[in-house]
Amino acid sequence: MPQRDVHQCQCPRCTNPEPHPDQQGHRRINLLMSRLDEQQRRWYAAVESAKLGHGGARTLSRITGLDVDTIRRGRRELADSLEGRPADRVRLPGGGRPAVEKKVPRSSRP
Ligand SMILES: [Zn+2]
Repeated sequence: MPQRDVHQCQCPRCTNPEPHPDQQGHRRINLLMSRLDEQQRRWYAAVESAKLGHGGARTLSRITGLDVDTIRRGRRELADSLEGRPADRVRLPGGGRPAVEKKVPRSSRP
């Protein structure tokens, strides 16, 4: 599995050279994010943003680099108890390109 880069938080506290207690928390959020799939990232950001209350989606967008609308969509999905979201697929059937499997040619011709 390819290693995804860990996003660097762009919030004022992390871009400031002065150390701040939030920096480690934000780094951990992005570290975890780097190991999640698309919909898991959306939901995790949604959960974290909900903890912050008003303006949370915007703050999480700055921390994670996810779009504000993506985070809001995650919050709506969580509010709907993830109704209709598949438990074992990143994308809904028919939604986007299927995963490309690595194929070994049946015969390698000379
Ligand atoms: Zn930060």
